[in-house]
Amino acid sequence: MPQERDIEERIERLLSQMTLAEKIGQLNQVPNSQNLDHDSIRAGSVGSVLCATNPTAGNVAQERVFASYLNELQHLAVEESRLGIPLLFGRDVIHGHRTVAPIPLGQACAWDPGLVERASADAAREARADGLNWTFTPMLDIARDPRWGRIAEGYGEDPFLASQMARSAVRGLQGSDLSDPQRIAACAKHYVGYGAAEGGRDYNTTEITPATLRNVYLPPFKAAVEAGVASVMSAFHEIGGIPSTANRHLLREVLKNEWGFEGMVVSDWASVDELVQHGVAEDRAQAARLALEAGLDMDMVSEVYIQELASLVERGAVGEELLDDAVRRVLRLKLRLGLFERPYTDEALARTVHLRDDHRRNALELAKASVVLLSNREDLLPLPVRGKTLGVFGSMSDVQSQLFGTWTLDGQKDDVVSIVSAMRERFGRVEHAVLADDCVSRARFCDVVVAVVGESPGRSGEDNSTQSLELPPGQQTFLEALAAVGKPLVVVVVAGRPLAIEWIMDHADAVVWAFHPGGEGGTAIASILVGESSPSGRLPVTFPRSVGQVPLYYSHKSTGRPDPPAGRYIDGSDQPLLPFGFGLAYTRFGYSRLEIEGGDRLRCAASVRNTGDRPGEEVVQLYVRDLVGSITRPAKELRGFEKVALDPGEEKVVSFELGEEDLGFYLPDERFVVEPGRFLLWIGPNAKEGLEGSFEYREGRFHPGDPVPHR
Ligand code: BGC
Repeated sequence: MPQERDIEERIERLLSQMTLAEKIGQLNQVPNSQNLDHDSIRAGSVGSVLCATNPTAGNVAQERVFASYLNELQHLAVEESRLGIPLLFGRDVIHGHRTVAPIPLGQACAWDPGLVERASADAAREARADGLNWTFTPMLDIARDPRWGRIAEGYGEDPFLASQMARSAVRGLQGSDLSDPQRIAACAKHYVGYGAAEGGRDYNTTEITPATLRNVYLPPFKAAVEAGVASVMSAFHEIGGIPSTANRHLLREVLKNEWGFEGMVVSDWASVDELVQHGVAEDRAQAARLALEAGLDMDMVSEVYIQELASLVERGAVGEELLDDAVRRVLRLKLRLGLFERPYTDEALARTVHLRDDHRRNALELAKASVVLLSNREDLLPLPVRGKTLGVFGSMSDVQSQLFGTWTLDGQKDDVVSIVSAMRERFGRVEHAVLADDCVSRARFCDVVVAVVGESPGRSGEDNSTQSLELPPGQQTFLEALAAVGKPLVVVVVAGRPLAIEWIMDHADAVVWAFHPGGEGGTAIASILVGESSPSGRLPVTFPRSVGQVPLYYSHKSTGRPDPPAGRYIDGSDQPLLPFGFGLAYTRFGYSRLEIEGGDRLRCAASVRNTGDRPGEEVVQLYVRDLVGSITRPAKELRGFEKVALDPGEEKVVSFELGEEDLGFYLPDERFVVEPGRFLLWIGPNAKEGLEGSFEYREGRFHPGDPVPHR
């Protein structure tokens, strides 16, 4: 690993040799279009190449990248430019590269940081083998509005869970040494609050108070920074009138000064130029000045820096020390990546690394763990494999690429086993059809019917907001017709966002949910349906009953009138369909013996017992409520979780520890405080159920309160 001191010395040495144009060149990221200008690389006018050809690449097929091509470009920079500074090659390796893992929202369902870390490490290894050294992952936008298509790309509604995932993803991608040729630089995005877009409309305005920003939206980014994330991407939107790309307070003061982030900040696609569209910059020159002053180091593709910064610096409108600070950050990343020592990638590597057996196994484990069992009447699942005729119906069961999810740039559909193929491998007799009338007529001859419905990947992700959370057109009628046949009905939903599935919950005998589960998703779903694996996923988002309830999330505040007798809407329930943290297993779990011990730290524990007759995994969750604060506090906040495997009859004590830092929160003036007082806590299976207890925190010490019986 290159020593930090050496790195800083080398940065200063390089900086002292650089011309103004060369410095600005380092801040310029160009898209990997066919028209890439080789002379600009030779001239030192390019700091990074973005290996994507289109602004919403997540939904558009992209050309593959090859180490040989990137090596050629690197050669121009290293051998033919004056200072030989290597290029950063960035690409969106969002949930796997050639081996495709579940979308991040699905990864969060696993509640298993270790699995996420392993899949992220595999993605890094595969991407680096293609010559990439930087990726724009993880997306850490807290999302509480399923209309927003990009909810698919993040870890859900909760800052605590998302922070755990952020750490795992960063550790997996970067390891402990970025110069390791199996690792890649990560990028925490989209800084910050992008998921709160008005009406769920992508790129849209937000109004987020400083306290909410600190308590809800910033924590996953802080966790990523503490885990050493190499870069951060500014978001497209604005908060309270300030576009994130020009938000000096958040970029320079909070991220860089307060948190001590030494990495690099990159804009989102052309978002420096978009400061003009936002109407905070009169022209591109002003956009360049606002962004650089705010602390935005690298300009992704808008060429505003490369065209405008030189004259701004020459005129004295922008201080050269600001420019130098940005350049240092880019050079620091290149040095940490070891690119000066090893700029090129072994072109034979991809063949041995891509789709490696262990990568596929990890993706399969994660896909299985991401599947959430939502209902299972009379234990219809797992399906008995022998002597029965099974119907697997619906086009989603058949189309391999449907399982990938948004932002799958390098996965190939031929590597995917579809749900119906995976079911055929396990069942002797499988009836299968995709046309609705065909499905209905064949269903009559089946013992059990599995209907696979949901969203195609192109319906979620960037710029894919929806007004409706109903199933896409036609699928509801299809399900109603299948249900009318009267056979036991299992509905498998594959989607990129929570959907309003109350009808399905009421009418299907079993419901299995999978956020786009990736390349191994067909095998994962089939293995769960037949009981080779048991379902252990839990929801990282609250499921509303209808779009009209949105936004709906468990850690809401209590109002002054919290309990109206018949709910808050005159035309429907105000309760979620499914709470955050919810998911079933093929067995049942009982909670008992909540214990709370005080001291400098609080220790709490509960016994969890497998009361059924099959092995299973439970995600034991700890929630806390601060009863009185100097500002209103959430009704509940997740503060711990652990996934435990239990054999039938087995019991384990699951314990958690809390320190004063776990009770603290930010005030409107952005000060962090830990306030003494009384707290409730719950240990349970989801945000709605659990054993309840209480404790007090005074003068730096915790004191247990009286446990309250289960309710
Ligand atoms: C997206 C980013 C992505 C970037 C580069 C943008 O449109 O918002 O998430 O990393 O493009 O492809």
